Amino acid sequence: MKITGDMLIGASAVRGTDATLRAFDPARNADLEPAFGGGGAAEVARACELAEAAFDDYRHAPFETRAQFLEAIADNIIALGDTLIERAMAESALPKARLEGERARTVGQLRLFASLVREGRWLCATLDSAQPDRKPLPRSDLRLQKIPLGPVAVFGASNFPLAFSVAGGDSAAAFAAGCPVVVKSHPAHLGTSELVGRAVQKAVADNGLPEGTFSLVVGAGNAIGEALVAHPAIQAVGFTGSRRGGLALVDIAAKRPVPIPVFAEMSSVNPVFALPGALETRGDTLAAAYIDSVTLGVGQFCTNPGLVIGLEDSDLDDFIDNAAAALEKKSAQTMLTAGIAAAYADGVKHRDATAKRIATGESGEAASGALPALYRVSAEDFLAKPQLAEEIFGPTSVIVVCRDEDEMISVARRLEGQLTATLLMEKDDVELARRLLPVLERKVGRILANGFPTGVEVSYAMMHGGPFPATSDSRSTSVGAMAIERFLRPVCYQDLPAALLPAALADDNPLNLWRLRDGELGPN
Ligand code: NAP
Repeated sequence: MKITGDMLIGASAVRGTDATLRAFDPARNADLEPAFGGGGAAEVARACELAEAAFDDYRHAPFETRAQFLEAIADNIIALGDTLIERAMAESALPKARLEGERARTVGQLRLFASLVREGRWLCATLDSAQPDRKPLPRSDLRLQKIPLGPVAVFGASNFPLAFSVAGGDSAAAFAAGCPVVVKSHPAHLGTSELVGRAVQKAVADNGLPEGTFSLVVGAGNAIGEALVAHPAIQAVGFTGSRRGGLALVDIAAKRPVPIPVFAEMSSVNPVFALPGALETRGDTLAAAYIDSVTLGVGQFCTNPGLVIGLEDSDLDDFIDNAAAALEKKSAQTMLTAGIAAAYADGVKHRDATAKRIATGESGEAASGALPALYRVSAEDFLAKPQLAEEIFGPTSVIVVCRDEDEMISVARRLEGQLTATLLMEKDDVELARRLLPVLERKVGRILANGFPTGVEVSYAMMHGGPFPATSDSRSTSVGAMAIERFLRPVCYQDLPAALLPAALADDNPLNLWRLRDGELGPN
C-alpha cells in the first residue's frame, strides 16, 4: 500500500491545504517522503460531523458485526506486512523485532476486544423486577445497561506507533464500546498512521459500517488537536504523551460548554522498592535486570523504573555498584524524535544539579542518541527536592538510599501518583512489604512483586493507569479489557414497555447474556 500524505475523513482521502508536514527518520537524520497535507478546523469539523452521523447506526449494529470489524482491522494490519514495519522503523528508530512484537500486541488487543464485544458482560445488564405489592410503596420495574458515550478523539503516542496509536488500545476500546473514533495522527508517525488508518478505513467499508465510524486527521502544531477536543460532537478523549500536552487537553475539555472526560496517560516514575531480603539473596541479578529495564527501548516506556528505593546496608551498596557497572556497558541510542532527545538531555542536565550521577553509559554514533545515566541520593535529599521524583523520559533512574524502614515509608508517602510500584522481596521482607502495601495502593494502579514494570500484558485483569499525574483519571485503564469502561455510561429504563426495551434487557434474554437479575448473576 502506498502512502499518499492525505488525511482519511470518513471514506475519503482528503488533502490538507493548511500546512505541509514531513515525517522524519531520527536514525538517518533525514526527512521522509511523501509530504503530508495538514488540515485544520474545517477537516476536524467534517470528521466529527461524520462521526456524529455514524454514531447511532454504529452503536446499533449487531455485536457480531462490531466484533468482525475489530477482527478485520487486525487482519488488515497484518496484511500490510513489512511495508508497515519498515515505515514504523524509519519513523521511530525502533528495532524490527520490537515493532513486530508491538504489531502482535496491537492485533491481539483488537481480537481481545472482539471477544469482549461478543461476550457482552460490559453491558452490565441488570434487572430489578417490579414489586407492585411492596408496602408502603410499590417498586417500579428497573432495568439498566451501559451504552457508548459517542464519538471519541484519540491522540496517538510517540513511543508506541502501533499499540497506542491509530488502531491501538484507545481506538480498540472505543470501537468495542460502540463509539466512532477520530484519531489525531502523531506528528512523528505520519506514514505509519496513514497505513494503519487505511487498514481501519477498509474494515469500515468491508463491514458495511457508516463511513464516519473512523477518521484520521493530520495537522501542524497544537491547533488541530485543540479543535478536535473542542468539537461538540466529541464525547471523550484518549491521550498518551506529555504531562503538558495532556493537561492542555484536560483544560480545553473542561472549558467546553459541555465538558467531557479526558483519559490522559502522562507521567510516572514507577518506584521499585528493593527490600533487604531480596538484595541479600540475589542483589547482583536484580541489578542487571533493573538496568536492562531502565534502558529497554532507550527508556522510552511509561513504565520505565525511574526510581529504586532501598535500605542503607552493604547489600544495597553492592546492588548500586552492580547497577552502575551494568549501566556503563549500555550505549547511547537514538530516541524517537529530536524533541524527545532534547527533552532528555535537558532533564539529565537539571538532574546533575540536584543529584550525584554515579554512572553514565557509553557514547555511540546515534544521531539523537540518549546517554544512559544513573543517580544516587539520600532519602533526606529526595524528600527535600521534589524535582527528583519527576519523570525524565529516557534511560535514566535514581536510587534512593533510606536510613531505616520509617524513612522508606516516608518516601513512599511522598510519591506522586504512579502507573506501577514494584516490590523486590523475599519471605523475610513480608512485614515491611505489608507496611508499604496500603501506602502504595493509594498511589498506583498496578503493584508487582519480583519483576520489573516494563512489559504490560493485554488481558482482562490488567490495570494501566493510576492517580494523577500518571493519568488524568485513575478510575480506568488504557490497556486491557477494562479500558472499554471509559467509553460507556449506564442508562436505567424504568417501567418501559417490552416493545421499547433494548434486547440486552428483554425478559427472555435473546442475546443470552450473563445478567444480574434480582440480585442473581447468571445467563438469566
Ligand atoms: P506530546 O508532546 O504530549 O504529544 C502527544 C500528542 O498530543 C501529539 O499528537 C501532539 O501533537 C498532541 N499535543 C501535544 N500538546 C498539545 C496541545 N497543547 N494541544 C493539542 N494537542 C497537543 O507527547 P510526545 O510527542 O509523545 O512526547 C513528548 C514527551 O511526552 C516525552 O518527552 C515524554 O516526556 C512524554 N511521554 C510520556 C509518555 C508516557 O507514557 N508517560 C509517553 C510518551 C511521551 P502536536 O504536537 O502536533 O500538537
